[in-house]
Amino acid sequence: MPELPEVEALAAFLRENAVGRVVTRVDLAAVQAIKTFDPPLSALAGLELTGVSRHGKFLDLDVSGLHLVVHLARAGWLHWRKDLPTAPPKPGKGPLALRVHLEPREGELPEGFDLTEQGTRKRLAVYVVRSPAEVPGIARLGPDALTLDTEQLGVLLAGRHTQLKGTLTDQTVLAGIGNAYSDEILHAAKLSPFKMADKVTDDELLRLHAAVRETLTGALDRQLGQRAATLKGEKRAGLQVHARTGLPCPVCGDTVREVSFADTSLQYCPTCQTGGKPLADRRMSKLLR
Ligand SMILES: [Zn+2]
Repeated sequence: MPELPEVEALAAFLRENAVGRVVTRVDLAAVQAIKTFDPPLSALAGLELTGVSRHGKFLDLDVSGLHLVVHLARAGWLHWRKDLPTAPPKPGKGPLALRVHLEPREGELPEGFDLTEQGTRKRLAVYVVRSPAEVPGIARLGPDALTLDTEQLGVLLAGRHTQLKGTLTDQTVLAGIGNAYSDEILHAAKLSPFKMADKVTDDELLRLHAAVRETLTGALDRQLGQRAATLKGEKRAGLQVHARTGLPCPVCGDTVREVSFADTSLQYCPTCQTGGKPLADRRMSKLLR
């Protein structure tokens, strides 16, 4: 799932390659992806893309005052294309959700980008609004994880009797962190994903804040300047525990373990994060019984 560093890197890529150019056409291939109807998608045609920004994990394309807002969800991605077909796509076929055509540069082929989504559970969401705050998911966002200082993080955690894993990924508490980077941040901070937010000590808060900053800026630095198509691979390369169940922890060599939930899972290192004790995993204990 694209999180803050991936979306920020996509925004930077689009600022460099798409801002200042006119949107000539927008093709909708997955009807369920569009969540608004006024203004219509067609209102974007003929307008210049004037800026690109990010709100949490939302990408916000400012098209001369109208905003094309995108949430890539779990399996969505943005592909920059230099060979954009001019024929309209067949709706409902394959991973394509939305295609944005930009005015070609002089003497060049039509360029633009595709928003795609793999899998059968379609969650990618697109909005056309006059202000990004009209998107409910943006209106509810907590402060951005990238700009937060230690004191602000302390205030967010204080009095919150919820596990750190769930707290860090709750977009209304803190914007931008999802399943992968929360695993990475908790590993870097040497904290259990199940520790309660209101039980974090001053020392742990310092470690957690440093881990939030370093994990996100490190991932962002690795991805900036990459082509949009290759950003995703780079995310995997930088991970220490997330999606590495059964592999050795790069810090201590212990085996990375997993806790599974209904439709997601978390990964952690027992030695680094939980005093060597494996966390209870209902699915695993059921299998072992
Ligand atoms: Zn470890």
